[in-house]
Amino acid sequence: MLSYTNKADIKNFSIDQIKKWLENRGFQAYRAGQIFNHIYLHQVDDFNNMTDISKELRSLLAQHYTISRLGKTKILFSKDGSQKYVFKLTDGNLIETVLIPEKKHATLCISSQVGCALDCQFCQTAQSGFIRNLTSGEIIAQVRDIRKEVDNPQRLTNIVLMGMGEPLANYQNVVKALNTLTDRHFGLQFASRRITLSTAGIVPKLMLLGHDTTVNLAISLNATDDNTRSRLMPINRKYPLRELLNACRRYPLKPRQRITIEYVLIKGINASEADAHRLARLLRPLKVKINLIPYNEHDKSDFQRPESAAIQAFRDILVNHHYTVIVRHSKGRDISAACGQLRAQLL
Ligand code: SAH
Repeated sequence: MLSYTNKADIKNFSIDQIKKWLENRGFQAYRAGQIFNHIYLHQVDDFNNMTDISKELRSLLAQHYTISRLGKTKILFSKDGSQKYVFKLTDGNLIETVLIPEKKHATLCISSQVGCALDCQFCQTAQSGFIRNLTSGEIIAQVRDIRKEVDNPQRLTNIVLMGMGEPLANYQNVVKALNTLTDRHFGLQFASRRITLSTAGIVPKLMLLGHDTTVNLAISLNATDDNTRSRLMPINRKYPLRELLNACRRYPLKPRQRITIEYVLIKGINASEADAHRLARLLRPLKVKINLIPYNEHDKSDFQRPESAAIQAFRDILVNHHYTVIVRHSKGRDISAACGQLRAQLL
């Protein structure tokens, strides 16, 4: 039975906010660390089980806060080993999170919004339109809940913000969630260098991100001229290629860090040899590695993936220009969990 509650999800608060809250009520600030350890390291779901905290404080916390989990509706298993979790939020909206096992570790691909407003012509998430931003608690919960479920939680070391939504369009909640995900003492203890945020290129937010976090940056570039890019990704009309690449040039990187350039290869649109040469030229001033993603076809779109020979030729040109290039064959295509296929349809 659903009951109305005006309690707040404690996962929406930073440790500093909870410290303040405690101090205002006469409790010691360090209690916040104990509470966060219970929630994030020990997966505690009930304030009452935090037995190193006084009964008085436990009941006060329970009066004001919940430690919620996402509603699980289903898990789809791909034959390549990846798993798609479909979660139901408290307002009934659905989001998707994909667990991708790799050789030595597992990567979690998380969502930042319900739907997306950017309307990229090749992406299925765009088709549901924008519904709402996820709260920082809902972003964190995708990681916390799945870490509780998996057989081998230590293997889950990497996170990519490449699920539904545009993370930089939900900037504050995303940065807040990243702070808790990477807090080494009181949060989920992920290493920033193992987290990658992918953006379609909201330039002003990009500059803030480099200032506020040290996570890796990925740019969905997908075209080498403004005409093509604006047609594929309307956000390019607001922040054209030159501005985007300039922002990338100024983006603060650690000594061995590079920006990942994602480039979806679409037959007849952006995958010619001339495009490959142009891409090599555009990226020359930057420290990058390039992920080529052969287009994942779906029935709502006429776009096609290029033939393998064309993909190979595109890659070879970039390699000859001395770039590090990976051709990413998206996982989970059979369960609609691949790049651009997340849309949380009612199944
Ligand atoms: N909004 C952010 C985060 C989503 S990442 C961003 O755009 O970066 C999703 C990635 O999948 C993007 O790089 C996008 O270009 C790519 N993509 C979208 N639809 C795809 C498709 N049908 N096939 C292959 N890749 C796709």
